[in-house]
Amino acid sequence: MLRQHGIQATPQRIAVAEYVLSTPTHPSADAVWQNVRRRCPTVSRATVYNTLNLFVEKGLIKPQILREGKVVFDAHVGSHHHFIDEATGKVYDVPWNAVRVMGHTALEEFEVAEYQVIMRGRKRK
Ligand SMILES: [Zn+2]
Repeated sequence: MLRQHGIQATPQRIAVAEYVLSTPTHPSADAVWQNVRRRCPTVSRATVYNTLNLFVEKGLIKPQILREGKVVFDAHVGSHHHFIDEATGKVYDVPWNAVRVMGHTALEEFEVAEYQVIMRGRKRK
């Protein structure tokens, strides 16, 4: 997969890819580093950050800002929305077609190319 995206595979890059491409958790760079370190204790924070940036640049993952000022990484690179459980902080992917924006006069002269909805809430009791 790395080769298909024009990325030279190194053991560290493979470790980062194995984690970030398989987790549904939308981890931050630090969370990726903590996790990869368990398998590759010598991997540096800078290597993980650089690897994540390389993966973003090559279209393997997508950065998302789901909470103010905090970037997380998403292996699901196609358009979709997110739901955040406020009780647990868990992030759920919501299919693109589950949310529709109806025409609004303020948008009449524009063609909306992209939008993303971030929903927040808690489990029903
Ligand atoms: Zn997502």
